[in-house]
Amino acid sequence: MVNNKFYLYNTLTKQVDEFIPREKDRVSMYTCGPTVYHYAHIGNLRSYIMEDVLEKFLRYIGYDVKRVMNITDVGHLASDGDTGEDKMVAGAKREGKTVMQIAKFYEDAFFEDCRALNIKTPDVVEPATNCIDEYIKLIEKLFENGYAYEAGGNIYFDTSKLADYYALTGHSSDDLLVGVRDDVEADGNKRNKSDFVLWFTKSKFDSQELKWDSPWGVGYPGWHIECSAIGMKHLGEHLDLHCGGVDNIFPHHTNEIAQSEAAIGHGWCRHWFHIQHLNDRAGKMSKSKGNILTVSVLKEKGYDPLVYRMFCLKSHYRKPLEFTFDTLDNAKAEYDRLKNRVAAIADEGELDERAFDEYRERFIENVGNDMNTSLGLTVLYDVLKADISGKTKLALINDFDRVLSLDLTGGAKQEHSDELTEYVERMIAERAEAKKNKDWARADEIRNELAEKGITLKDSKEGTSWTKA
Ligand SMILES: [Zn+2]
Repeated sequence: MVNNKFYLYNTLTKQVDEFIPREKDRVSMYTCGPTVYHYAHIGNLRSYIMEDVLEKFLRYIGYDVKRVMNITDVGHLASDGDTGEDKMVAGAKREGKTVMQIAKFYEDAFFEDCRALNIKTPDVVEPATNCIDEYIKLIEKLFENGYAYEAGGNIYFDTSKLADYYALTGHSSDDLLVGVRDDVEADGNKRNKSDFVLWFTKSKFDSQELKWDSPWGVGYPGWHIECSAIGMKHLGEHLDLHCGGVDNIFPHHTNEIAQSEAAIGHGWCRHWFHIQHLNDRAGKMSKSKGNILTVSVLKEKGYDPLVYRMFCLKSHYRKPLEFTFDTLDNAKAEYDRLKNRVAAIADEGELDERAFDEYRERFIENVGNDMNTSLGLTVLYDVLKADISGKTKLALINDFDRVLSLDLTGGAKQEHSDELTEYVERMIAERAEAKKNKDWARADEIRNELAEKGITLKDSKEGTSWTKA
């Protein structure tokens, strides 16, 4: 039974709407999965972390969720506008392997990253190459309904047949087509510039390894049709929630809506959830820029992957997030302190049910206000400070962690000996006291004394963290 209201920004209505699924207490949720031609970078993983929090929050407030995710192992070209080389073929060429070997390797790598980040595997994970019959059926339906045409050997969707092709973006065609890459020759077969490929038979890539028989000749599906067909295969003709990164809004999700609604003849998905980019100093993180920042890189540099999860939860999913190692260090210091504080709580006293319910309500209200995870963390800190029994605190922390998944009661972060930690923490506290009393000389003296022992202090608005050389 779901008793709480949940408000979530909806890209389709462009406002924060109350989330109301079609069937009471049940949610059908579709997530665009990875194209498995390379490792996921931590910017891609920001989306999967926030989608995971969303799914867990829905379950937490009582929904029965069925979540489906595709794995794109065919049909996703270098440009989202149906041009350029197939990403999978390029990946296979790069590594001297077959497309299926590449797909298997990077799919495994993706789920290993997810495990490290405490991202739950969706109920259904479907590789695109499993569903060829479904794409063919859907495309046949589009022909029947008058939305598909054949030109130059390929099958296209005719976007001019729709009254509101741009419903999701709210933009005009001219604004958006600037985003479709112009550096490859335009496809002269298209009746309208915004039309897109449903099925490729005549490909300029003879190297395309994976091809299937179809009523229109041997070929392979376009990327967009995959998600519509896989969604319908497992969740039927109605979706409550569809998720992805903001760069999926156009053209991918716009095309998914176009072809799904043209095929079924009614509205398809009620609520669209999109996560903003992770940027580095040079702009949006992307694989095409060369060095990609992955979970393995973070691990090699000594970070617990959950520090990155904490880093993401500290900011709102609708704001671009800038990644630097300095800000990651702040998240690490905060995460370590948080774990240490939780580890110090003694499991004693009675469970205060009234306090438990009150804090739980506040947590739901805060996170339920457009997935405000940072306000959710604030409630967690309030619990740590509260005048309630250790038993009640631990019960609440474990309860919130069903959504946050930060392994908060998994023990203290033991990196240094107890004596060293105790000594440094004592000195940091003394320095803070000195600074409060404007005794700058004493504060500097403490910093220098620690520096001689190889300990570097770093001040931030969350407090002081330290590292030992
Ligand atoms: Zn998709």
